[in-house]
Amino acid sequence: MRCPKCNSALDAEYDYKLIQRTIRKDEFMRECPGHWKYWAFMPVGDLSRIVAMGEGGTPLIDLTRLLPRAKKFLVKYEAANPTGSFKDRGSSLEITKAVTWGRKRVVIASTGNMGSSVAAFAAFARLRCKIILPDFVNTTKIVQMKAYGAEIELTSGDYADAMEIAENQVRSDPKSFLAGDYPWRCEGTKTVGFEIADQMYWHVPDAVIAPIGNGTLIWSVWKAFKELMITGITDALPFMIGVQAERCDPVVRAWEERTDTIVPIEDPRTVASAIACGTPIDGLLALKAIRESGGICVRVTDEEILRARDELGSNGVFVEPSGAVSFAGARKTGDLLDQKTVVCIATGHGLKDMYGIE
Ligand SMILES: *Cc1c(COP(=O)(O)O)cnc(C)c1O
Repeated sequence: MRCPKCNSALDAEYDYKLIQRTIRKDEFMRECPGHWKYWAFMPVGDLSRIVAMGEGGTPLIDLTRLLPRAKKFLVKYEAANPTGSFKDRGSSLEITKAVTWGRKRVVIASTGNMGSSVAAFAAFARLRCKIILPDFVNTTKIVQMKAYGAEIELTSGDYADAMEIAENQVRSDPKSFLAGDYPWRCEGTKTVGFEIADQMYWHVPDAVIAPIGNGTLIWSVWKAFKELMITGITDALPFMIGVQAERCDPVVRAWEERTDTIVPIEDPRTVASAIACGTPIDGLLALKAIRESGGICVRVTDEEILRARDELGSNGVFVEPSGAVSFAGARKTGDLLDQKTVVCIATGHGLKDMYGIE
């Protein structure tokens, strides 16, 4: 699942001319937004075998009052997915692959949400599921995984250690499927980007803001916007703003230092536990998305994250701390967003982690 040369994630390439011929542009542009509408941009051959639970089709909410210097400030509320985070988009495609290949068991390392999501889709497809977790993952998320019947293994190491354990277990069991931040997940996650453009009647926003944990989300969204342009569906690209927590900021550091070397963060701890990835597997791709798009990378403190979480909540949008990271980041962009159309990705549901709410 990784490049033997640089050890970073693999990327899928398509024949875009073929995609252009496959979709009927007028119909495609008018059809209701939703995850599997964009199947032509995903590596699936047989649509009758997809494992779908109503993922995607999440609201794009106008909250310009929270960032009045922007022309428009929209929040993509990914909490509205079946298990409460955008991870369901990638899981849907991954479990589709696992089923197509006849695998009986799924193994995954997770900081919480990916585990819950894969557990749900695996249970729905009647596959067994094993999840390896760092022991700092909050108990609510573990309860959610158990509710879906998954087997849990805790490690005292961090997320990178959990990934290694998962990869080793799959290597020793050929009937199992390794889920996680690998190419299939990225291809499924792209639909966040397709939907944003679609919900804006195919007008591309000026800026898209996303949190960076492993970096898969921001890269996938960027890839989606590029693919829409390559296939002639849109005619512009947004700039991407990546946001990390102060105590786990390896991508921000590499961006500031203009290097291609991501130095791992030891013992990453932040209230935004879903982005506590000290060794981000798609970190270089996240950097690439930010650089290619002419965007920036910012860091926010735990305090700023919680304040953003509370503010979104008191405006009717309840997110977990990681889900407020992009909004906290929007506040730290100077005048970059003035008079711009901005979309902020609110990645996970508030009920998943209610840290500090009395
Ligand atoms: C996974 C996750 C992220 C980070 O996404 P990456 O693809 O790892 O960069 C952010 N917020 C929430 C709620 C998540 O579950």
